[in-house]
Amino acid sequence: MIQFDGVTKKYPDGTSALKGINLEIAEGELVTLIGPSGCGKSTTMKMINRLVEPTGGRIIIDGKDISKINPVRLRRDIGYVIQHIGLFPHMTIKDNVAIVPRLKRMDKKAYERRIDELMDMVGLDPEKYRDRYPSELSGGQQQRIGVIRAMAAEPSIILMDEPFSALDPISREQLQDELIRLQETVKKTIVFVSHDMDEALKIADRIVLMKGGEIVQADKPERILRRP
Ligand code: ADP
Ligand code: ADP
Repeated sequence: MIQFDGVTKKYPDGTSALKGINLEIAEGELVTLIGPSGCGKSTTMKMINRLVEPTGGRIIIDGKDISKINPVRLRRDIGYVIQHIGLFPHMTIKDNVAIVPRLKRMDKKAYERRIDELMDMVGLDPEKYRDRYPSELSGGQQQRIGVIRAMAAEPSIILMDEPFSALDPISREQLQDELIRLQETVKKTIVFVSHDMDEALKIADRIVLMKGGEIVQADKPERILRRP
């Protein structure tokens, strides 16, 4: 479980990005942070892997205050998917995805099997694609690899920062569907930043609506009021 306990963030220039956030994210839950640009979504998410440090309050993961966990170690257990995933162009798909499993010294046979399974789940034939280079894949396919890369090392948490927003509408819908299916199987704790309410309503177990550095509503999709 991830707990935000009175978390504030004031950037050095004086911007008050978060004004005391309290939030609990359960294990296996897919939570979407949504709200207008500048409301504090990215700041909230980046605190979970210590890319941003709070200026007040605490963040606790599985009972541990993360300010006491080495950031490098913390990040090995937290998958991260961003809009432009940046696969290494000189490495094959398999090698790109295997970076973190290797760092974690996971069993090679086990993670290679895992990578093939994940590729199958998002409709990329492993035989056909694992030894290709990123430039030989479409944008949508590369983004699928980004999602797989975040999952391959069996992290306990996955952070997704508008991962599909650079894609065309059709690829985007497909990836949303695939994420829902993947999540039914892998049941990871996922924190997903979006600015698209339709996307949030579709994929989230719970929607956290933010505005001006505060949480204005946190509830199941069917109970979130749609605002104009
Ligand atoms: P969102 O992800 O919802 O667009 P952010 O968390 O990126 O919002 O930003 C929240 C507020 O903090 C905004 O006013 C933004 O301009 C400000 N902000 C974000 N990062 C920094 C930074 N590194 N330095 C100063 N202000 C920042
Ligand atoms: P998308 O709509 O996902 O962006 P593209 O039009 O880019 O799709 O690609 C369509 C198909 O062409 C995909 O199946 C992809 O594998 C293949 N493809 C795209 N670029 C290359 C490439 N440089 N080499 C081989 N196949 C490619």
